[in-house]
Amino acid sequence: MSTEVGHTSLDIDKIRKEFPILDQSVNGKPLAYFDNAATTQKPRQVIDALTEYYSGYNANIHRGIHTLAEKATHAFEQTRVAMQTFINAGEKEEIIFTKGTTDSINLVAGSWGRKEIQKGDEIILSGLEHHSNIVPWQLLAQEKEAIIRVIPVREDGSLDMDAFKSLLTNRTRLVAVNHASNSLGTINPVAEITSLAHGAGALVLIDGAQAGAHLNIDVQALDCDFYALSAHKFYGPTGTGALYGKRAILESMPPYQGGGEMIRDVSFTHTTYNDIPYKFEAGTPNIADVIAMKAAIDFITTMNKSSMAAYESELLAYATEQTSSLPGFRVIGTAANKVSVLSFLIEGIHPFDIGQMLDARGVAVRTGHHCTQPLMEHFGIEGTVRASFAVYNTIKEIDQMVEGIDRIIRFLK
Ligand code: PLP
Repeated sequence: MSTEVGHTSLDIDKIRKEFPILDQSVNGKPLAYFDNAATTQKPRQVIDALTEYYSGYNANIHRGIHTLAEKATHAFEQTRVAMQTFINAGEKEEIIFTKGTTDSINLVAGSWGRKEIQKGDEIILSGLEHHSNIVPWQLLAQEKEAIIRVIPVREDGSLDMDAFKSLLTNRTRLVAVNHASNSLGTINPVAEITSLAHGAGALVLIDGAQAGAHLNIDVQALDCDFYALSAHKFYGPTGTGALYGKRAILESMPPYQGGGEMIRDVSFTHTTYNDIPYKFEAGTPNIADVIAMKAAIDFITTMNKSSMAAYESELLAYATEQTSSLPGFRVIGTAANKVSVLSFLIEGIHPFDIGQMLDARGVAVRTGHHCTQPLMEHFGIEGTVRASFAVYNTIKEIDQMVEGIDRIIRFLK
C-alpha cells in the first residue's frame, strides 16, 4: 500500500527522512508514533540548530557586545520575527517567549488577572480545556473571589455556543478557550467566540497548543487578546513557546516575574521596568531552544501548513473509516471540524491495556485522561486511547495500528 494518501503534494517519504527518530524498531516492530498531541518529533534542522548554537556561538543575549553574544542575540530575536509572521502578529514586541503554553497562561493569570480581576468577576472557560487552562484561573479565582463559568460540551465534542452566549454577562472579564482540543481534536469557533466575548466587554485568551502544528493562525484576524503556544507541539524543542498579547494590554500589565532583563533601572527605593516584550522575560531565557524554535517554524512554513493539514485530515479520515467496523469500537469526539486526533474506547477493554498491547506492536498511542479530567467526567469515562497524527505519519502506520487493535479485540474478547 502506498505511504501517501490521495493527492497530497507533500513528499512524505522525504519528510520522514528528516526525522531521525522515526527510523527505528520498537519491540521488534517499526515504530508508528501516534502520540503527536503530547509532543511531536523533531526534524534534523531543529536538532542541528541546537547543536550549532552550543558548538558555535553559545553566549548570553542582550548584554554582551562581543561577537558571540551579538550572534546569539540576533538569532534569538530572529525567532521573535519568525513567530510574529507565523501567527500574523502586528508587531514583534507583542511576542513574549515563555516556557510554553502553561507558562503563557500562568503569565496572563498572574499579571493581567491579578491586576484586573475583582471579587465577583466572571471568567468563562470551556468543558474542553486542558488542566493548564483551568488551574491557573482557579488559583486566581480563589485569590480574588471570582467566579468560573464553563461552556458545556455537546455529545459530539463541540461547544454549545447557545449556552456560551447565555453565560456572557457584564461581569464576564475573560474567556479562555482552546483553539483545538488535545483530547478529542475538536476545532473551536474561536473567531466567533472572540467576537461574542468582545461584544460583552470581555478579553479573550486562546490556548493554541494544539493549533501550532495543524491550523493557520492569524491573531489579527481572530482579534484575540492573548494567544499561547508550545514549540514542542509543532516540531520544535521542549521548554519553550510564546505568548502573544495585544501591545496596549501588555503595556498595561505589571511584570509577572522580577529579575534581570525585565528592568530598565534598579535602586533600593525605585525600580523601573523594561519595555515589552522584555518586561515579561525575566532572567536568562532558554536561548538555545528559542533559536531552534525558528527552525521548527521554518520547517512548517516551507512545507505549507495548509498542505500539512489537508494530508493529516486524510490520515484521520482513513483511520476513522478503517476502525469504524471494529467490534465495540467507539470514537469519543465526532465533531465535523477536527484536527487529526482519534480518541476512542473499545467496549470491555481498558484503554491502558490497549495502549500497552499496541506498544508491544511498535505503535505509540496515549492512554488516560490527557490532562482533561473534567471532560472525561462529562463523558462518564476515565480516559480514552488517543492516536494523534502528524505530517510524517503514513497510511501504512495506520494499517499497523488497525491490525493491532483488531488482534487485541480478538485476543481479549
Ligand atoms: N493546552 C493544550 C490544549 C494542550 O494540549 C497542552 C499540552 O498537552 C497544554 C495546554 C500544555 O502545554 P505545555 O505542557 O507545553 O505547556
